[in-house]
Amino acid sequence: MSIQDDYEGRDIFEALADDMETARLRQARTPGQEGSLGGDMTIEALPTVYRGTTFRSALEASWAATLDSLGIVWEYEPEMVTLPSGAKYLPDFRLPEIGTWLEVKGTGVPRVEKAYEFGETLACDCPRIRGIRRCSCRWPGGELVLIGNPPRPIDPWSDGYEDYNPYAMHRLVRRHPGFASWKSTRNSRCWLTRCTQCRRATWFDMPRCRACCGPLAGSIGHHSGSSEFEFIRISGIAVPEQDAGDDPPAA
Ligand SMILES: [Zn+2]
Ligand SMILES: [Zn+2]
Repeated sequence: MSIQDDYEGRDIFEALADDMETARLRQARTPGQEGSLGGDMTIEALPTVYRGTTFRSALEASWAATLDSLGIVWEYEPEMVTLPSGAKYLPDFRLPEIGTWLEVKGTGVPRVEKAYEFGETLACDCPRIRGIRRCSCRWPGGELVLIGNPPRPIDPWSDGYEDYNPYAMHRLVRRHPGFASWKSTRNSRCWLTRCTQCRRATWFDMPRCRACCGPLAGSIGHHSGSSEFEFIRISGIAVPEQDAGDDPPAA
């Protein structure tokens, strides 16, 4: 498909320039500067250049490459937000075409409290009827703040399905082989899906496509055989320094 082709056909000089810039930044980086970026940096955080953008960490650059491979438009650290508590918060990514923000969760100290507060300010309060939000907002449920854990197959034993009995947990795993799930700051489970109407990748947390806002009728359950949307299998986030053709994260 064209997005993947574009990515594979990425200009070799652009890639080389990124690698050289990354090497330069790593060389220039001196220990003890972590505090200058608001204490959000971890030891592993090394500036990484990908497609001309300097990311604070290789992990964030990897997320950008993964979003590219999925055809999801991203903006990196687009704006500083002042939260109701008065705290300043700089979200990692804005995904403007699917009404979603992405907070990349690294291996260092979790810093998701601000993301949760930000998510509260964006969530709509349209009424729920029989557990399903009857929402007429531009973005279903309001804009979504996604906690960007590295994708991994669903594991109900550690993913907060405590109220499920063991049989239901096993059934969940059987029904979602290889499909990663994420969590939003609304504590809703989000699945990476492709809408069969607009063919775009989006995180699904309620029965409407976040890309085209089309209704996903009859897809209340997370059945991978649904005709309204397809689950996207993703085994890991892309490594931006390598040729994406080796291991395309999405089908
Ligand atoms: Zn709403
Ligand atoms: Zn759609």
